[in-house]
Amino acid sequence: RFPEPTPRIGRSRLLVLAGPTAVGKGTVAAQIQQAHPEILLSVSATTRPPRPGEVDGTHYFFVDDAAFDRMVADGELLEHATVHNKYRYGTPRAPIEEALRSGRTVLLEIDLQGARQVREAEPSATLVFLLPPSWDELVHRLVGRGTEDAEERARRLRTAKGELAAQAEFDYRVVNDDVARAAAEVAALAR
Ligand code: 5GP
Repeated sequence: RFPEPTPRIGRSRLLVLAGPTAVGKGTVAAQIQQAHPEILLSVSATTRPPRPGEVDGTHYFFVDDAAFDRMVADGELLEHATVHNKYRYGTPRAPIEEALRSGRTVLLEIDLQGARQVREAEPSATLVFLLPPSWDELVHRLVGRGTEDAEERARRLRTAKGELAAQAEFDYRVVNDDVARAAAEVAALAR
């Protein structure tokens, strides 16, 4: 359990943003971070290689399998999961505990498996599911960003079907039809 949180009225300071591939979680999280620098956006560890432009320590902590194993063994991760049956991702625990202790709100942008683990570890966490306006729009966005090949896109769309089916487990559902509006809606849940 985390240290006893500062009393708040009805809302948790640990906010989890999940949702299917290409729905725009990263964009919405970045927008929230920009509008609310006081909110800590958690930086995950991953075994995925960096994409062009991604900076180690900013977008992710890029680690190899051995280092990831060590983080798991040492209990350094609040949650971790293999995503899209491929690479491993996990949330470092220490920066989150420190931020919560100092009264900051923390935003995690993670997958469904991770969201379930956070709920288990910290039942007061607020779980938000980001939805695409439609399935066709989701496919369109995934193809449009052009960062995955056809096989990887198919893999991600399979995961997305399963994730969409689990949306009822979340406390809130926000439709990402407009990034600024969706970001404001999510941020409002953290205040
Ligand atoms: P990408 O490789 O496109 O950056 O991320 C792939 C997926 O991994 C996304 O659904 C993202 O939310 C998820 N993800 C990123 N960081 C974490 C994490 O720390 N834990 C979990 N469980 N999922 C994560």
